Amino acid sequence: MVYAVGVSPPSSELSVLSCAGCGACCREQGAPPDYVALRISPHLADDPSFADDLARYRALTGEPLRLLNQYFHERQAGLRPENGVCIWFDAENCNCRFYDLRPSTCRVFELDSPGCHIYRRRQGISVETDS
Ligand code: SF4
Ligand code: SF4
Repeated sequence: MVYAVGVSPPSSELSVLSCAGCGACCREQGAPPDYVALRISPHLADDPSFADDLARYRALTGEPLRLLNQYFHERQAGLRPENGVCIWFDAENCNCRFYDLRPSTCRVFELDSPGCHIYRRRQGISVETDS
């Protein structure tokens, strides 16, 4: 779904050209990863590399924040796995419900990267769908 950001190889070398219908990388995060890290490890707020995520995290309101809180509540109650489908993932439409609010990890993750291939394989999705 999401995030092909950063430098990508020329399209002629791509085996995965699109996130359409995939979302494999969102299916193992549990919740927006950097916001989870900031909640669990508050000292990360002092880490300059978290500055952008800290600002986004602190600005969360409404449904995005409610879902993040729900994730922690359900996880604490043993009702939700730590690394299941991201609570912001819209499985029906296969995209991020709050794409503009997604954290850095989701922004920099590259389509057709080795990690992308690993997630796809783990979710039973071909890495050669679009080749
Ligand atoms: S695993 Fe790869 S193709 Fe699938 S949504 Fe993530 S970046 Fe896109
Ligand atoms: S925050 Fe959005 S892009 Fe990131 S893992 Fe969750 S659903 Fe996917």
